[in-house]
Amino acid sequence: MDENDQKLTTASGRPYYENEDSLTAGPRGPILLQDHYLHEKLAHFNRERIPERVVHAKGTGAYGTFKVTNDITKYTKARLFSKVGNECRVFVRFSTVGGEKGSADTERDPRGFAVKLYTEGGNWDLVGNNTPVFFIKDPKKFPDFVHTQKRDPKTNLKSPTMMWDYWSLNPESLHQVMILFSDRGTPDGYRKMNGYGSHTFSMVNNNNERVWVKFHFKTRQGNKTLTGAEADVLKGKDPDYAQRDLVDAIGKGDFPKWALKIQVMDDEQATRFKWNPFDVTKVWPHSEFPLIDVGIMELNEVPANYHADVEQSAFAPSHTVDGIGLSPDKLLQGRIFAYPDAHRYRLGANYEQIPVNRPVAPVHHHQRDGMMSVDGNGGGSPNYFPNSFDNIEADKRYKEPPFKMDSDIADSYDRNADDDHFTQPGDLFRKVMTEQGRKNTIGNIIGAMSGISGARRNEIIQRQLNHFYKADKELAGKIAEGLNFNFKPE
Ligand code: NDP
Repeated sequence: MDENDQKLTTASGRPYYENEDSLTAGPRGPILLQDHYLHEKLAHFNRERIPERVVHAKGTGAYGTFKVTNDITKYTKARLFSKVGNECRVFVRFSTVGGEKGSADTERDPRGFAVKLYTEGGNWDLVGNNTPVFFIKDPKKFPDFVHTQKRDPKTNLKSPTMMWDYWSLNPESLHQVMILFSDRGTPDGYRKMNGYGSHTFSMVNNNNERVWVKFHFKTRQGNKTLTGAEADVLKGKDPDYAQRDLVDAIGKGDFPKWALKIQVMDDEQATRFKWNPFDVTKVWPHSEFPLIDVGIMELNEVPANYHADVEQSAFAPSHTVDGIGLSPDKLLQGRIFAYPDAHRYRLGANYEQIPVNRPVAPVHHHQRDGMMSVDGNGGGSPNYFPNSFDNIEADKRYKEPPFKMDSDIADSYDRNADDDHFTQPGDLFRKVMTEQGRKNTIGNIIGAMSGISGARRNEIIQRQLNHFYKADKELAGKIAEGLNFNFKPE
């Protein structure tokens, strides 16, 4: 045998002589306990699955590059943006939200659009969706909302009754509901959709001045959507449609690209803005806050191993870099906690040591031990602070300017303005959607609301129609007509 041939070994490296037939007491006797290779094979198999993500379970990912094309140093001191032409590697994970790991890619659902930029100043994660807004604006509502998108506790079926009951009781969801039931709720794969940071973030420049920022990834492939009917056919024909589309395109060298753009708002504009600029159920109109070019992202490499990189990738909105910060957006504040918490549960306390999550920037701290510490665990260096041996010091130059929220924004802010859940969905329906888009949206809503059943059916439909009515009378009228429902606006 050629010495270079790969020989079967145990996981501990011992060459092993048999991969299929277990060691038995005689040709027909029972298996011997000492066949440790059999135990190892079965035991590892039993442990192949890690906990499925509660949301965003079905996904695919790719590596690529991000290149800065426009100077935004007046807004941010982030090292990545210090010079036009700067580049970094990225990893992107796309996903659906509500379905399990084996669910169909063309379900009507928002799509996750999570980007990890491996910058020299640390990992920067933009963990967004393909929609600029979200269903709720307070993280305390998140578990309830997600339960309604999952399975009914008794029947284990998806339940339109649960979904519409919840949405109708939370009118703040209307904007996202409108987008979801437009054809943008069924994008044609992951390449032909936009991505949005959704939340309001901040940028801080070299003068320590802060602006508020929204991030947009605009697809260079052209926005393309499926109709509800096309999406339904694909669910059965090719449940992995979006994953296949991405992997095939990259395999052929047809690398998808997105243009990263920002919208910027200063403190004064934030105070004057007619809505709460930190409300994730609202957008900032482009006419008031135009898109500013930042750079180009290209995806060009399918990871060599799905589990290693896609399944173990861990994104967190708290992963920002110096020069890019957070905001008082309540949902963002909740996600700052919830995401790393989910990763510690799924992957363990040392999840940032897994190659896909590991920063290219140097890491210095005194955190040690825990399960799966695989990076040397700090060797013999001190694991406490202060100490007399290392010089890991917190550097006050990285401190951000304080938020002046209480006096400057929250106190003077008209809280009632937050209750306008209707103007923007109405604008979307009337001003942005095409005639055909409006028709499809109405048809999709009628189809979904037809599934509402049970004793509370009429009450739920009436409540939801009232929300549609406040956004647009014609919209509510056509849905009521399609449902054959005797709607009385309240
Ligand atoms: P604009 O006319 O300047 O922009 C409309 C935006 O809507 C574009 O970004 C477009 O994306 C996007 N769009 C088109 N069809 C849909 C759809 N069915 N679902 C979701 N987005 C869609 O409008 P304004 O900025 O004045 O905003 C008007 C409305 O547009 C908002 O109320 C909001 O619903 C929607 N919108 C606004 C965004 C913003 O950040 N201002 C972002 C996305 C949506 P594209 O250019 O890629 O075709």
